Amino acid sequence: MQYVSTRGQAPKIGFEEAMLTGLATDGGLYVPETWPQLSQEEIAGLAGLSYEEVAFRVMKPFIGEAFTDAELKGIIERAYSGFRHVARVPIVQIGPNDWLLELFHGPTLAFKDVAMQLIGQLFEASLARSGRNVTIVGATSGDTGSAAIEAFRGRKGVEVFILYPDGRVSDVQRRQMTTPDDANVHALAIDGDFDDAQARLKDMFNDHTFRDSVGLAGVNSINWARVLAQAVYYFTAAVALGAPGRKVSFTVPTGNFGDIFAGYVAKSMGLPIDRLVIATNQNDILHRTLETGAHTCETVQPSVSPSMDIQISSNFERLLFELYDREGTAVVQLMDDLKWAGGFELSQGALERLKFGFSSARASEEQTLATIRATLEQTEEVVCPHTAVGIHGARVVERDPTVPMVVLATAHPAKFPDAVEQACGIRPELPRHMADLFDRPERITRVANDLEAIKAIVAGEAVA
Ligand SMILES: *Cc1c(COP(=O)(O)O)cnc(C)c1O
Repeated sequence: MQYVSTRGQAPKIGFEEAMLTGLATDGGLYVPETWPQLSQEEIAGLAGLSYEEVAFRVMKPFIGEAFTDAELKGIIERAYSGFRHVARVPIVQIGPNDWLLELFHGPTLAFKDVAMQLIGQLFEASLARSGRNVTIVGATSGDTGSAAIEAFRGRKGVEVFILYPDGRVSDVQRRQMTTPDDANVHALAIDGDFDDAQARLKDMFNDHTFRDSVGLAGVNSINWARVLAQAVYYFTAAVALGAPGRKVSFTVPTGNFGDIFAGYVAKSMGLPIDRLVIATNQNDILHRTLETGAHTCETVQPSVSPSMDIQISSNFERLLFELYDREGTAVVQLMDDLKWAGGFELSQGALERLKFGFSSARASEEQTLATIRATLEQTEEVVCPHTAVGIHGARVVERDPTVPMVVLATAHPAKFPDAVEQACGIRPELPRHMADLFDRPERITRVANDLEAIKAIVAGEAVA
């Protein structure tokens, strides 16, 4: 399988290269040249298999010959052995035809582990083979950073730098990033918000001299391998609920559009997904895009679901590429308008296509907290605020009641204890393996929102 850039100017590359580089040299994102198909029989054949076996069958066509079958199976086994639920991503019923897909049983208690644990294994296998070193730099609104540090800590040939917005991540998120004591992981607190961190990250990737000199690699949600890993759980959940004989819908709490784009990937492969519902918090650029066709940035409003406090939704570019018939030049134009004019207007055709497969809903702060409370009352489940944004979205959106609705439960409630306690009076406890998190010493490097200052830190420690 070859990968092309959404901006049409970078050369085609294979899976391994796309995984190691992250962003394409023309500033675009890598997408597969075609969507591999699973037949209805192949999808039906996933019923009853282990998560690992489904992951192998779904991902194999995208990975091609980059790894042998035996290598890939070993990588997948190791990636998910640290998950604390034998089903890896269990589903739980919360209504007559409503389900939660629990994606938070990995080591850092958020869905980011599902992809990041896999990427850690893929990188290790790939680097061991080539003898290369890489410098991973990531920007995080909280959960990506902890998942990346957990996935790469102590791994050979890898130096990891994570930029997080100072003061805008939860204490649990921060401590998961600042307490690992491995010499190869570095948490950098940037004086700015998540969009600043992400912008500096993109600047570093667009500085090709710097990029090559430190062997820069990206594991942000724009990394194709992450999106691919996330497509797997759409299959396990849908098949458990009757696919391919029956359609299933998903509601996805969305920030960077990575998790929900993975649903689009699953659908493009042949999984009968009815609706993909984009659920946003008050940072609602994607909801406004569906409502009005105008994709315009506003300033980020900090919320009780901080992992979605984003206005620049990077993976949306991948969907734009599809909505505009894979025309790289159209995407370049839209991205220029976004960068220089703060937004763009979708063409009528693109907006119609968007609405054909996607719906959207927005949850205010009050609605998010009320949903945590109501969910506890109705089901005895304590949910995190991001998950609550999803549950709210699934409730208010127009839908076919005969189609099961699966809400992605993206984090464990103990990752956001203040918001949960504020909503329902219960302070969720950390699972046993993390009980001493608040006793461990922290290591923090503070840095200005300044490209040169950040580059100096990265270059100073890099081993490439
Ligand atoms: C990252 C994250 C999201 C948003 O996911 P995207 O792929 O950026 O849309 C939602 N909830 C939680 C808990 C997260 O960590």
